[in-house]
Amino acid sequence: MSHRYRIAVIPGDGIGREVVPEGVRCLAAAAQAHGFEFEIAEFDFACADYWLRHGEMLPPDWREVLGGYDAIFFGAVGWPEVVPDHVSLWGSLLQFRRGFDQYVNLRPVRLLRGVRSPLRDRQPGDIDFLVVRENTEGEYSSIGGRIFEGTDRETVVQETVMTRIGVDRVLRYAFDLAAARPRKHLTWATKSNGISITMPYWDERATAMAQRYPDVTADKDHIDILTAKFVLRPQQYDVVVASNLFGDILSDLGPACAGTIGIAPSANINPDRTWPSLFEPVHGSAPDIAGRGIANPVGQIWSGAMMLGHLGELAAAAQVVAAIETVLDERPEVLTPDLGGSGTTEGLGAAIAAEITAGE
Ligand code: ATP
Ligand code: MG
Repeated sequence: MSHRYRIAVIPGDGIGREVVPEGVRCLAAAAQAHGFEFEIAEFDFACADYWLRHGEMLPPDWREVLGGYDAIFFGAVGWPEVVPDHVSLWGSLLQFRRGFDQYVNLRPVRLLRGVRSPLRDRQPGDIDFLVVRENTEGEYSSIGGRIFEGTDRETVVQETVMTRIGVDRVLRYAFDLAAARPRKHLTWATKSNGISITMPYWDERATAMAQRYPDVTADKDHIDILTAKFVLRPQQYDVVVASNLFGDILSDLGPACAGTIGIAPSANINPDRTWPSLFEPVHGSAPDIAGRGIANPVGQIWSGAMMLGHLGELAAAAQVVAAIETVLDERPEVLTPDLGGSGTTEGLGAAIAAEITAGE
């Protein structure tokens, strides 16, 4: 009997509702081509409409409801006219990251054939690296506060928290990734020349981890020069690992270098597999173009490919990415406006699904 994966699908708001069906369509095509099955349950959490009805983004028992699925396939949240942005983010995605201990945020950055990079003269092959962001601690702690409020001695402090477990587990994940890639190169982002307590600790743990991976060439870059080099010499990177804040910055800058935000995928991963991991495009709900059927579905579809890889369906994952690249390169008539075409979300999704089926 073929394997059956149970997937929770959460479209969310705005273009999330338009691109998720195309992602599901491509997953179905990949399943059929590779002889496995999906059992899909769709949830209406985490959207503005749910918030209006319930006064919260998720039901109180969301961990029990979602915890048994093999993965979560997520669209986008945010409808600022109705729900303040921080409510939709803290009320849903950040709950998942912490509640399901998704301590790795992974973003592949690759310039695909058929896509123009905003960096002049860049060719596919020049930009092909992975950004691994620590997703649960670091600079994004809620420890701190204000004193002397309202006086001219007003003072505000917010702490960075690094734990040995938290730092080591994301480094280990990144080194494992680097060890499995042909170039076996890892760069860790730091700022130990300016941040004198936490960042030297991060360097120390990275140096210790590097000793356990003799096949991986590891080096560090300070975050300021690292951002410059992403733009000037992206070809020198293979796996880049960073703390929560630095990783947040790099994982937006990287995909921007590789073309439109509409194509970039991401994964929030629980590597220990005690809880489901979550796969979502990098872009948000894009209220400015929602409802017009012109959103680019590639970020969602590529996120689906990452989900297939996580489930162990490596051949299917590779085929979905290959199909995306073939269609972007050879079918200009189906490209969406952000890629310079005049096609629709549905047209581009259908073309990729057909390519998955044909390429089998
Ligand atoms: P968030 O705060 O959720 O990260 P945002 O509001 O910062 O999101 P997006 O919703 O990603 O940003 O939109 C940023 C810009 O990119 C908008 O102009 C939007 O129309 C465009 N955009 C985002 N996603 C897509 C897509 N899939 N296809 C085409 N254009 C997109
Ligand atoms: Mg937004």
